[in-house]
Amino acid sequence: MSVDSNHGDARPPRAGLRDRIPDAILPAVPPTQRTPEPPVPAMDLPVTAVPGIGPERAVLLQRLGIATVGDLLLHRPRRHEDRRAFLPIRGVKLGEPALACGRIIAAGTNRFRGGSRSVYEFILDDGTARLHCRWWNLPFIEKFFAVGDEVMVFGKPNSLRPPTIDHPETEKVEAGDEAPLHLNRVVPVHPATEGLSARAIRAMVSRALERFGAEIPEPTPRLVPVGAAPDGWPSRAEAIRALHFPAEIADAERARGRLALDEFAALSLEIRRRRRNLERQAKAMPCGGDNHLIRPFLASLGFRLTDAQARVLREIRADLAGAVPMRRLLQGDVGSGKTVVAACAALMTVEGGWNVAVMAPTEILAGQWAANLLRWFGPLGIAIELRTGSKRETSGTDATGPRVTVGTHALVQRAATFDRLGLVVIDEQHKFGVAQREALVRKGWYPHLLVMTATPIPRTLALSVYGDLDVSVVDAPPAGRGRIRTHVRGTKALAKVWEFVRRELEAGRQAYVVYARVDESEHDETKAVTREFGRVSTAMAPHAVGLLHGQLHAREKDAAMDAFRSGATKVLVATTVIEVGVDVPNATVMVIENAERFGLAQLHQLRGRVGRGAHESHCILVADEKTEASKERLKIMAETNDGFELAEADLRLRGAGELLGKAQSGLPSLKFGDLQGDRALLELARGWVAGMKM
Ligand code: ADP
Ligand code: MG
Repeated sequence: MSVDSNHGDARPPRAGLRDRIPDAILPAVPPTQRTPEPPVPAMDLPVTAVPGIGPERAVLLQRLGIATVGDLLLHRPRRHEDRRAFLPIRGVKLGEPALACGRIIAAGTNRFRGGSRSVYEFILDDGTARLHCRWWNLPFIEKFFAVGDEVMVFGKPNSLRPPTIDHPETEKVEAGDEAPLHLNRVVPVHPATEGLSARAIRAMVSRALERFGAEIPEPTPRLVPVGAAPDGWPSRAEAIRALHFPAEIADAERARGRLALDEFAALSLEIRRRRRNLERQAKAMPCGGDNHLIRPFLASLGFRLTDAQARVLREIRADLAGAVPMRRLLQGDVGSGKTVVAACAALMTVEGGWNVAVMAPTEILAGQWAANLLRWFGPLGIAIELRTGSKRETSGTDATGPRVTVGTHALVQRAATFDRLGLVVIDEQHKFGVAQREALVRKGWYPHLLVMTATPIPRTLALSVYGDLDVSVVDAPPAGRGRIRTHVRGTKALAKVWEFVRRELEAGRQAYVVYARVDESEHDETKAVTREFGRVSTAMAPHAVGLLHGQLHAREKDAAMDAFRSGATKVLVATTVIEVGVDVPNATVMVIENAERFGLAQLHQLRGRVGRGAHESHCILVADEKTEASKERLKIMAETNDGFELAEADLRLRGAGELLGKAQSGLPSLKFGDLQGDRALLELARGWVAGMKM
């Protein structure tokens, strides 16, 4: 028998792309045309159709998310090993991955601490030198090996005196049956699971290829050109074979590329179908308006729309007046002035006699929206309704005319209903899941949709996650803004930081101080807002300091925000509840303590709370004991104010899932495609899909 030490390395099962396509767009087969029981395509057969896989192994394979022949064939190797040439043990280098092969000449287990701890060790000899392989506290491992066994090991030496690898991956060389599969060639190492070694999976994949390799179909429609490089790609069947058993390790990458293309094509196709369905099924409500409200609104605003805002507004108006419901993403860096654009879209809708719903991620932001709209729309006789978890109130003059309803996710609760819903606006949309967005849209009959975000979306994500939305960008901030300087400081400099803040307060400005936590914790050195509030108050006296965090009651939150907005408090000590949307132009300093605890997107959003007025602003990132990753983040923050650059850096540093946030369940499940590295492939697939007749 053989073992792999990479037990439990299973990836969680993922839903296939097809599962994500709404039923409505799968081709429906009329009952009369049904043929008697068409044969099941080979790829959909249960894995037990593969010779040598019985019900027991099928159960183990389930743990790896493998149910069908197709799943097994698409079980992506973690890596490949070139077993045509092993590294002589004499030549292994410290910290460099080594693949060696030799015979066990000695083995044994040492127990210590009364037997509660142990180390098993064997010594491998390949004729050039000896390699010590050790496993700590895995005493059962000893039963897998015996002196005299021939074993392949893979790992990074952690010592050279003598050469030693702790917890290497291993595979025994077996005499006989499938040895040609496991030796003298490039072999795949698949994710394995307890009871099912990489070696066993390799054999199963090989048998599946033997039996069903000729029945691997090209996807329909056929979009990927098959043929010789540079323009042609391997067929899907060739690609799957080479994914597992490439002639050279490099060939596996081109095979992966082909499979990634299939995923991107399926994704682009899904997006295009969704779009087409919208165009066919939905008749847009006429919400272009007639200017009778917009005109007085713009006249009363106190500033002129920027060119960028006016251009975006024209794009939105064309949609609102068009035949197909608007599906538009409004992008614009923090402070670029998206709110007023959305307010204009709401007015156009109201002009036509339709109602509007605005959803924002926090009560604070929903409250700010309601206050703004009341100030702007109240004089025009439009009712503004605020609905959050804790509140439901309507203000404004005419309760029977069109209304704008503002709220948090309370808006999508089952009981919430909307009449004559013409437009849905979702602010800070990256804070919501796609499901919440859809739930609000479904409250009406194909209303127009405007989603807003300040998180600039790198192109690959825009194409894949938001591919069904048109994009408008407010690409320049209003003129006359002071610039924002960013500084990184250690906690030793805090006294100086407070001194600096005081000077700003004395000049009439205001400041935010942000902490990562609400409460103290024994396990965590991170400063907590409730305790630091006292210290900051002392440091700032006699200037008034306010406190704001998520655990306060809605009324207390409102009071704290109102006091800061009106200037009654000069400093607002807060958690990240103020991260998005909050707009107080007189605030010019943002101090962020434990800045190492925040991600780039979050830091950029927080920094966006200042620099909203004419005065020069400052963002001070306070951090000690920085890890490499957090140092890198803070350095990037200090270097650039450009949200797009930051987002690209974030994608590089953290990956797509993190960037979009946990709530953003819209991320496609890709097994082979990589949203960071495969932009060219994604664009290629999109091009093919766009050129298709549908
Ligand atoms: P964001 O895009 O981050 O949501 P806001 O809509 O909150 O930004 O706008 C930021 C600030 O800029 C607000 O105080 C807003 O009133 C102001 N503002 C918006 N448009 C203009 C403009 N054209 N000229 C001057 N100030 C503007
Ligand atoms: Mg905003």
